[in-house]
Amino acid sequence: MNASETRPQPVNLPQDWTPASWQRRTALQQPVYRDPIALGAALEQLGRLPPLVTSWEILALKRQIADAQEGRRFVLQGGDCAESFSDCESGLISNRLKVLLQMSVVLVYGLRLPVVRVGRFAGQYAKPRSADTETRDGVTLPCYRGDLVNAPAFTPAAREPDPQRLIEGHARSAMTMNFVRSLIDGGFADLHHPEYWNLDWMGHSPLAAEYQKTVAAIGDGVRFMETLSGTPIHNLNRIDFYTSHEALLLHYEEALTRQVPRQWGHFNLSTHFPWIGMRTAADGGAHLEYMRGIRNPVAVKVGPTVKPDELLRLIDVLNPDDEPGRLTLIHRMGNAKIADGLPPLLDAVKRDGRRVLWVADPMHGNTESLANGVKTRRFANVCGEVDQAFDIHAAAGTRLGGVHLELTGEDVTECMGGARDLTETDLARAYRSQVDPRLNYEQSLELAMLIVRKRGG
Ligand code: PEP
Ligand code: MN
Repeated sequence: MNASETRPQPVNLPQDWTPASWQRRTALQQPVYRDPIALGAALEQLGRLPPLVTSWEILALKRQIADAQEGRRFVLQGGDCAESFSDCESGLISNRLKVLLQMSVVLVYGLRLPVVRVGRFAGQYAKPRSADTETRDGVTLPCYRGDLVNAPAFTPAAREPDPQRLIEGHARSAMTMNFVRSLIDGGFADLHHPEYWNLDWMGHSPLAAEYQKTVAAIGDGVRFMETLSGTPIHNLNRIDFYTSHEALLLHYEEALTRQVPRQWGHFNLSTHFPWIGMRTAADGGAHLEYMRGIRNPVAVKVGPTVKPDELLRLIDVLNPDDEPGRLTLIHRMGNAKIADGLPPLLDAVKRDGRRVLWVADPMHGNTESLANGVKTRRFANVCGEVDQAFDIHAAAGTRLGGVHLELTGEDVTECMGGARDLTETDLARAYRSQVDPRLNYEQSLELAMLIVRKRGG
């Protein structure tokens, strides 16, 4: 085998691209670091630290996304709006993993499709904000941009962007990743033992019976297959779990963008599946420039103001060779806007024959602020958007291949509605998010069941 066989070259290498070429473009949503020398030193250190994921895993995920594009898999992507450094603790991480595993079991069984599990974690530490500053009682300070940049407390010291946080963010991501990998390698995801994933208060949930029925049915199926074949089904105790985060803070992403022996091109080795947020997806902007050159599968959030020609142009930039698995479009229209906003985009992409994976984010178009300023989402709107998304894709002859959710394994009260019908007064009881409101454990499972009822019958 010659070198070109072991290292297949792309049809077109990204022209004029380097991990730093984004710096020639306008980069929105970046912090202003007061001390460029301290920033340079932190980035230099970050550039020498080990990566968090490998190119093999990244390419395996790309193949799975390519399968999902063909309707052979369904993507479940979920986690906090923003992780915080202080939430890097075992119970929170394992509970989040448990709820994602429970949801994926419901989806696998109900949809009769393998599920690609992607966490919104191990690096989801930087947030786009609607304003650069925040004013309280006549005092104006820089906005909180996520723990990778600064701290949420409203003091000048907390809000000052601190380059050391880049190192800390990498370390916390690595710890999260390490724990998730160890749990999964140790058999935590083993389908023979779904009881490992029961959360303490599951027994009291109105959804418990339906979930237990699904698990029992899977258990029967597994035992039946094992009896037939006379041997245990081994690959049931191991699953793949991938990570994703918004590639927002480009200095951080650049420092973890590397070349890999026996592979061409560059990989972002801080995560398997980075995405570009709605606020930073502008044509000609730095985020698109950075993302076009890496070999990871990438996603872009698509909001209600995006026009069909803008979307086609974005696809040209990010996936000029129409590579399978490369590009996912995550629409986040809102329950009230999806019926008008989505069809023209689906039609344009279909008409042009572009290969994408369509995923629905039913969270970000449904955020609202109550009179007291608290941000929430109504579960009915979240479900309504998912429900409409399936119908709109069916009518357009396209396929909804996944969902992107903000959720937690904790019993929080941040979104209203759901099986326990949380009301405005309930929100005060356990509202913990510093940023967007998340589905709690029960609401997440209920949504998975809704997807199955809609799609799987
Ligand atoms: C997010 O995913 O937390 C987010 C800010 O989403 P969007 O870019 O879609 O607004
Ligand atoms: Mn969010």
